[in-house]
Amino acid sequence: MNDQHSKIGSIEIIPLPAFRDNYLWLLRCGQLAAVVDPGDAAVVEDGLAAQGLDLCAILLTHHHADHVGGVTELIASRDIPVFGPAAADIQGVNNPVAEGDEVSLDRLGIRFRVLEVPGHTASHIAYLAPGLLFPGDTLFSAGCGRLLGGTAAQLHASLRRLADLPGDTAVYCTHEYTLANLAFARVADPGNPERDEWLVECEARRDAGRPTLPTTIARERRVNPFLRTGEPAVMGVIADRTGVRPRDSLECFAALRAWKDVF
Ligand SMILES: [Zn+2]
Repeated sequence: MNDQHSKIGSIEIIPLPAFRDNYLWLLRCGQLAAVVDPGDAAVVEDGLAAQGLDLCAILLTHHHADHVGGVTELIASRDIPVFGPAAADIQGVNNPVAEGDEVSLDRLGIRFRVLEVPGHTASHIAYLAPGLLFPGDTLFSAGCGRLLGGTAAQLHASLRRLADLPGDTAVYCTHEYTLANLAFARVADPGNPERDEWLVECEARRDAGRPTLPTTIARERRVNPFLRTGEPAVMGVIADRTGVRPRDSLECFAALRAWKDVF
């Protein structure tokens, strides 16, 4: 296991960088692997070949091309399950899943529960196993997805739901956006020393060519302004910026999301 891999039980989790800032996550157990959100088939094939792995399942969180673009090619020569949101029409999905469904990858010895987390898109799902979350583009370290189909109310509710997961849950976000998100967080949620410590650590990881991910739910509760929209400090910044004090966490969240879009 190299220093970029992490381990949950007997599953090794390997980042495959793709495009400009995506991670396609490989789950490995022995010589078997599953992949989450394979936007680029060639990157996955290279990752499998480099380690002599046999792909046995694909998990998809939402329909955007950088998450599903490799599916058709990957299944052209394989008869494997492809899990994806039932509410989205994604080519290649042969196991549509919805809220509460179980995704059992018996050959890898891991079982996920499906959470519907609309907001970034209307039909976005996440995959949760004990200690392990694949949130797609819903939650990033110190940030969250843009509204590209869902509503602010949906994304706010989805993020609150993820924030309520056990704090030690490792979160495998799909983009390396952490440093840019932290630059915004410093303005939106000033005076947060834990966030500043996380920034120092992330800068060191990036300087060493390593991912800033995974993060944890406990850390995100403390450093992610989008999970802190009920905090007086964040509400105060929004009030100063817009001239109107948010009435609640959702109003603060909507204003914060809109601000980040133009930051
Ligand atoms: Zn997306």
